[in-house]
Amino acid sequence: MESKTYLSEALLRAELAELIRYLYRKRLAEEIVADFETVFARHAALEDRLNIMAHWVDFFRAHKYRKVMRRRRPTHKERMTACAACGYPVSHRHHLWDIATHGENAMTVQVCANCHELYHLMYHALARDSHYSRKLVIHILSSGRVPPDVARQVLDWCRATLRYEARSGWLEPYKTSDEWLEVTLYWSQFHDKEGAG
Ligand SMILES: [Zn+2]
Ligand SMILES: [Zn+2]
Repeated sequence: MESKTYLSEALLRAELAELIRYLYRKRLAEEIVADFETVFARHAALEDRLNIMAHWVDFFRAHKYRKVMRRRRPTHKERMTACAACGYPVSHRHHLWDIATHGENAMTVQVCANCHELYHLMYHALARDSHYSRKLVIHILSSGRVPPDVARQVLDWCRATLRYEARSGWLEPYKTSDEWLEVTLYWSQFHDKEGAG
């Protein structure tokens, strides 16, 4: 029993130091770790030390979680990358894998504000059954202002995400089907006309 408690003290202490070194720059991290060692040295009772460690490990774990999840600011180079769908000279960084689930990640595509909005409207129409988004997508597609190949490219990204989510069990598989696309967005009315002509 005694040795088990000492083991958990060693593990907690190691995790605490590891979290601090993850969260802070080298010199500051070592100072903080040293401060904790001073605090622990002042507490003779093992239980007191364990309580202090448990409290701070929880605190730094939450801190680390927020840091991992934080969306980083795009660089100028990224902003000045042309839209990958329509070629507009300035773009946003869209995450194909959402940050809430995956944290900041490299699965991104550069799209201009309009194509970016279209993507999210398509996504909400197809994945979330949003009637509101669906109406807007149909309005955009029927305007004739978005070239078919641009709409097709945005849709392809959207459907890649839908398929990924369906494979992961987060989305009903039928939402990745051509039938669903047709029922939801009347896709063939605006596209694939070359096939009919
Ligand atoms: Zn664009
Ligand atoms: Zn986005």
